[in-house]
Amino acid sequence: MPMALVVLGAGALATARRIQARFPESRVHGLASRVSADIAYDDFGAHVRELYAAGTPIVALCSAGIVIRALAPCLADKGAEPPVLAIAQDGSAVVPLLGGVRGVNVLARDIGAALDVAPAITTSGELRFGQCLLAPPEGYALADIEQGKRFVSDLLAGETTRIEGHAPWLDDAALPRADAASRAVRITPLAVSDADSLVIHPRCVLAWIEDSSRDDDIVERVRRAMHERGLAPLALAALIAPVRDMTAQSLADAAHALDVPLRFCDAAPFDVSDARDIALQVRDAPIDVQTIGRARGTLTVIGLGPGSAALMTPAAKDALAAAQDVLGYETYVRMAGPFRDDQRVHITDNREELQRACHAFELASEGRRVVVVSSGDPGVFAMAAAVLEALDEGRAAHPEWSAVKLAIVPGVSASLATAARAGAPLGHDFCVMSLSDNLKPWSVIEKRIAHAGEADLVMAFYNPLSKARPWQFDRAIEIVKRYRGVETPVVLGRDIGRPAEALRVVTLGELKSDLVDMRTMVIVGSSTTRVVGDWVYTPRWYG
Ligand code: SAH
Repeated sequence: MPMALVVLGAGALATARRIQARFPESRVHGLASRVSADIAYDDFGAHVRELYAAGTPIVALCSAGIVIRALAPCLADKGAEPPVLAIAQDGSAVVPLLGGVRGVNVLARDIGAALDVAPAITTSGELRFGQCLLAPPEGYALADIEQGKRFVSDLLAGETTRIEGHAPWLDDAALPRADAASRAVRITPLAVSDADSLVIHPRCVLAWIEDSSRDDDIVERVRRAMHERGLAPLALAALIAPVRDMTAQSLADAAHALDVPLRFCDAAPFDVSDARDIALQVRDAPIDVQTIGRARGTLTVIGLGPGSAALMTPAAKDALAAAQDVLGYETYVRMAGPFRDDQRVHITDNREELQRACHAFELASEGRRVVVVSSGDPGVFAMAAAVLEALDEGRAAHPEWSAVKLAIVPGVSASLATAARAGAPLGHDFCVMSLSDNLKPWSVIEKRIAHAGEADLVMAFYNPLSKARPWQFDRAIEIVKRYRGVETPVVLGRDIGRPAEALRVVTLGELKSDLVDMRTMVIVGSSTTRVVGDWVYTPRWYG
């Protein structure tokens, strides 16, 4: 999981960026009132407690005391304890505080190397043996933490140990080894109960689920199959199922409950002929599941909001962080960045929406995590509808598109962002229209404006004007004027939420086409819309 580099002020920013250069997936979190960073927060204590609860590794660039005091209320409940480190803001000290079993000391060494200082390691076992026995590398799982802690204190107290099984990462560890030792570090996929051993399970078992439609629980069936062969549940590396079952929710739920990846193959990747139900394969070493079949691809259409990071939803940020491929129009893709080296960016022209949507489905069908970006909300004159049009037209020819896990993540649309800046012009009934006649006849637009005018709705106009549509806006205003007085307030929001943001309030009488362009949102009031000081609002009542 990418770590959070938490800073309280600009003084720590340079050190945070040095660490970030080493860990490109990490994000710098800055106190909103003091510093501008990748992610803004308002309250240090609340923020780090939230990160901690989510299991996010925390690297706080401030005094250890501040971090300890902030996290103190969380420490009593033993949940998943993420690595927590305090780093001096000038980079001169690296202090691992919590998260020994999740590799805090390894992280401290890496950060120490990036900052060119020796980390302040205080873990006895780690100091004596050169590494933390309780944090085996990826692909291995410690069977029992409490038993592990006892084992390490026994070794510290003078006991010796053997190593049973293959543990290449312990080759250089300074363990007190003895071939005849009664204690052992045992690397085995088998469920062993042995109070004198440190048991570590390689994740080397694959489970093939031929039939996910049976009534009984997949989790139970997998556990039973493993139990019958004496295998420890933690040795499971992945569930594998036939491609035809890609959309089965029971499989996704089971993989989630077992906390393993779910992969799909056209046929079983090993001999399953003598399996009674779930077929298992036990390999000699941990399995890189990326090499087995493919994942169910995801296609997430997100809205970035009008422009500023503060108006982007956490759900959209999460989708971007998880993305392997990001598609969109250049301006929006840039807004969504920066991206990591492992993320592929596909920039397309704004007019190639349907092609972009098809490309997104093709990538997702290969098992990739794909994100398509729109500005504002993706469902408002943007990519979400284009993606569904592509599916509608393409699914007969490409049945695999239907197996893609599709999700739409909403965003703050330009009309809402503009309205908020101006006050509450959308405080009563309103309608939203695009004035572009690229995808609909102009006559439809005229008719809708007339009906909205007659219905006394506030009107929010997207795409008010472009070079290719020079006369339409003035014509639209003419129609509005048949139903509204010249004093009606009109809000013009340009580049809202972006550095060049400009907001103007004019009257309908003053409104003309040279006040607007493609980057402007136009909100025309109803008969009740009013101005109070600098604010524009439409009361909730009518009369
Ligand atoms: N999906 C977008 C709208 C895309 S249509 C959304 O929900 O906001 C593009 C139109 O949106 C532009 O012509 C302009 O009218 C409006 N728009 C988009 N971003 C804007 C911004 N930051 N400020 C003002 N208007 C904006």
